[in-house]
Amino acid sequence: MQKKIFAVLLFLAATIFSFGSVVEKVRFNEYPPQMVFDLSEDAPVYSTDYDEYNRLLFLDIGNNSSAKDKNTRNGLPKYIEKVQRVDYGTSSGYFVTLNKNIFHKVSLRKNPNRVVVDFSKNAQNKQYTVVIDPGHGGKDPGAVGIGGTKEKDIALAVGKYLRDELKKDFNVVMTRDSDEFITLTNRSKISNGIGADLFISVHINSAENSKLSGMEIFYFSKKSSPYAERIAEFENSVGAKYGEDANSIVQIMGQIAYNKNQEKSIKLAEGLNRDLSARMRMKDRGIHGANFAVLRGISSPGILIELGFIRNPEDHRKMTNRTNQKIMAQKIAEHVRKYFY
Ligand SMILES: [Zn+2]
Repeated sequence: MQKKIFAVLLFLAATIFSFGSVVEKVRFNEYPPQMVFDLSEDAPVYSTDYDEYNRLLFLDIGNNSSAKDKNTRNGLPKYIEKVQRVDYGTSSGYFVTLNKNIFHKVSLRKNPNRVVVDFSKNAQNKQYTVVIDPGHGGKDPGAVGIGGTKEKDIALAVGKYLRDELKKDFNVVMTRDSDEFITLTNRSKISNGIGADLFISVHINSAENSKLSGMEIFYFSKKSSPYAERIAEFENSVGAKYGEDANSIVQIMGQIAYNKNQEKSIKLAEGLNRDLSARMRMKDRGIHGANFAVLRGISSPGILIELGFIRNPEDHRKMTNRTNQKIMAQKIAEHVRKYFY
């Protein structure tokens, strides 16, 4: 390891004078995990080298105007074990030790000038695509609650806030972003067509009994409990009501993908339902596997969130409040980030 570092330093000693930019600030982002060098206006020239055996990334960006924090171990994003700054002559270099099985990509970004190192668990460092599916729409109001509130409107409002949150870090596609009717089949087609990595359907629960309240999340399962079956039946009935047979949506995932997607969906659903219900002070009704037509047709992991009960006064109040809708979206986004990174 020492040998390698010295070799790099020697190389740099020879090229020191070619670096013109000044590092104004070094910062770390949690999601997505990044190390960012904010640079002065000069066109930056940078060099990087990676020692795979020691998982050591070396970056030479230019002069560093801030002299503090030579060695950093605290406040680092996931995937970084250690950061060490080495000053030599008028320049500084950074040694970044990555955790095991982590990939990185260094890129130059403009406006403002900065060098960004992205860390990720996948080699391609690809941008993930998340599909947001606000339930119902157009001629299909979904469940109708207190004062004529429609499920389709709450689902769309939360879906839009969720889009605004997620687009900061992901490629986001909505199955609908206005009050229009989309068949269940087309919702899954949209998702599969763009090769989505995650599908999130947003719905509102309904029950005759206005005392029923709380939040629950569903994932696709060929087997359902009688309770989950009932909820799935209601959501699937939309098809039949508007001329679509939900049974015609076939499962395109093979057995291996089915098992894997289910495992991933459960992982996301569990943490999210617990956290989201606590944050909203709503009852945690747990997560359930059910044969939802819209989830059956997609080829990625997916969840269907039933945010609350539209006929329950307390749930209704929370779900129709804009601030709460935003908080819900933020919480969901937080868990989506954790899911991917
Ligand atoms: Zn619904």
